Amino acid sequence: LEPKEEFSHKTLAMDVMRPRRSDPPLSVIMQDGMSVEEVESLIAETSYSGFPVVVSHESQRLVGFVQRRDLVISIENARQHQEGVVSASRIFFTEYTPPQPPNSPPPLKLRGIMDLSPFTVTDHTAMDIVVDIFRKLGLRQCLVTHNGRLLGIITKKDILKHMAQMANRDPDSILFN
Ligand code: ADP
Repeated sequence: LEPKEEFSHKTLAMDVMRPRRSDPPLSVIMQDGMSVEEVESLIAETSYSGFPVVVSHESQRLVGFVQRRDLVISIENARQHQEGVVSASRIFFTEYTPPQPPNSPPPLKLRGIMDLSPFTVTDHTAMDIVVDIFRKLGLRQCLVTHNGRLLGIITKKDILKHMAQMANRDPDSILFN
């Protein structure tokens, strides 16, 4: 992200974040109770580099962020080496796992692979500030919230694309030069 390609002060995080109004909603993981099977389908049906972890669908309160590759490796590993972990096992990102109902398979605890403090900005944050933070912290993505509710995500590529659009240039020429 080159300093010369500055944003005008008018562009806000909400203008750059995904999903767009017409897009499907953000793909998130619930912190407790999703099954191994459900998380595996989420991984299979999307190609995102990572997933925000939230308290619940209703609250959309952010708990952390998990990288796709860490999720894939951990589930594969657990299926192979962790006694009893099957498609119906529940995945927990919480500190404590509630007692499982009798005869249910052992839970899979994945708090250890979650980034507990992913970088967040509000939807009204000016993009020139967001770009500055990306540069200074070397971020790959940043989450966007409104009144504590998770709204969206901005990746480094989203910023580059937006810059290219604003400069009315081919995004590839910026990404790869
Ligand atoms: P990149 O932007 O480098 O291609 P990703 O593959 O993670 O990185 O994201 C592709 C697009 O999908 C980006 O526009 C990004 O904002 C968006 N995105 C990333 N993660 C998610 C997610 N969990 N749910 C919905 N959209 C996402």
